[in-house]
Amino acid sequence: MGVFATALPGAAAKCICSMPPRKLAAAIALSHWSIGLYFGGTAWLLLTLWLLAGAGTPMARLAGRVSPRPWLQGLVAAPLWLLIFVALNLPLALLGHRVGLRYGLSVESWPAWWGDWAKSTGIYVVVGTIVLSVLYGLMRHAPRRWWLWFWILTIPVEVFSVFAAPIVIDPLFNKFEPLQKVDPALVDQLERVAARGGLHIPPSRILLMDASRKVTGPNAYVTGLGASKRIVVWDTTIHEETPNEILFTYGHEQGHYVLHHIAKGIAFSVPIILFFYWIGFVLLRWLIRVRGPRLGIESAAGWASLGLVLFLLVGLGFLADPIGNAMSRHIEHQADVYGQEVIHGLVPSARQAAVDSFCSDAQLWLDNPHPNPFVEFWTYSHPPTEQRAEFAEHYNPWAPGHRPRYFRK
Ligand SMILES: [Zn+2]
Repeated sequence: MGVFATALPGAAAKCICSMPPRKLAAAIALSHWSIGLYFGGTAWLLLTLWLLAGAGTPMARLAGRVSPRPWLQGLVAAPLWLLIFVALNLPLALLGHRVGLRYGLSVESWPAWWGDWAKSTGIYVVVGTIVLSVLYGLMRHAPRRWWLWFWILTIPVEVFSVFAAPIVIDPLFNKFEPLQKVDPALVDQLERVAARGGLHIPPSRILLMDASRKVTGPNAYVTGLGASKRIVVWDTTIHEETPNEILFTYGHEQGHYVLHHIAKGIAFSVPIILFFYWIGFVLLRWLIRVRGPRLGIESAAGWASLGLVLFLLVGLGFLADPIGNAMSRHIEHQADVYGQEVIHGLVPSARQAAVDSFCSDAQLWLDNPHPNPFVEFWTYSHPPTEQRAEFAEHYNPWAPGHRPRYFRK
């Protein structure tokens, strides 16, 4: 740890969110773990899938013995490959949880962790098998245009999953209840923030999540679409943040809500997904031409190609991350601005509430105050906490000659 701390001489002195030296060292060490897990994990998956791609041929032969119908063969080949993929991911997931426990970010016991892992694996294999069956069906029927048809199907499915996830998936992993039941006084405060933003968010759409069974850090988020749209506050936020900090955190989430960030995120992803599907189509054809003969893979549409398809999914997903993250950092910054503006006049100092909220986040989540700019560009879905605190510290749109961005009279 000490080695990492000295790697950034004087870093602590310049920070708005000053951290005790031990915490700073832990934050920097933790960021090294995260970088290793993300980049090393991607390299590990690409390497192993590349080496295992040849196993697709005997697996497709096995599936062929079950049925002559390709879609029935898929019910054998797809789950087998998905389970291989889960197994390849398992060491990364175990190490990730181990690191979370060691640095005090996670408090989830191993049995509970394995329970969650089993549930997510089940969902992953079932959903993955359906998706792959559709993909291979399209590849068989439209060998040159499947990427376009798959994209057309992806859009309604993406919209539906965003709508359904908070109702169907999230309750499998955490308990949600109306915040009103637990802390009606806080809901009254939040309603004042909502009113300031000119909207009425029904209390039934402000939920409390029992995050403290698993993690220590505070968080809140907006999820769902249309009738399922909601603001979720983690119970850790209520335990760890002061009332003014909570109002800022909530104001930030309300920003996502009123600025329609979920719908905008979907709209942003639609053309990018098309582009990546097309790249996937081109690369898959090329891979089968150069590697197919040696591995016994004749065409993309046969189940034998699935190892190569998973290899491409990991590789293209990795290349898509910086694009999605750049968009995400952009809207997160908008929500920060909105959050600070919306609580102006409701707390003694909106600036102080925002800075305090970021700095308590930085301490509790052990955020590296000065991440490597390349790592930030590639992997950060939010601007680094220290940067957010610094922006808040200097953001004063009520000073003479300045104007708020979202609350103009
Ligand atoms: Zn946000």
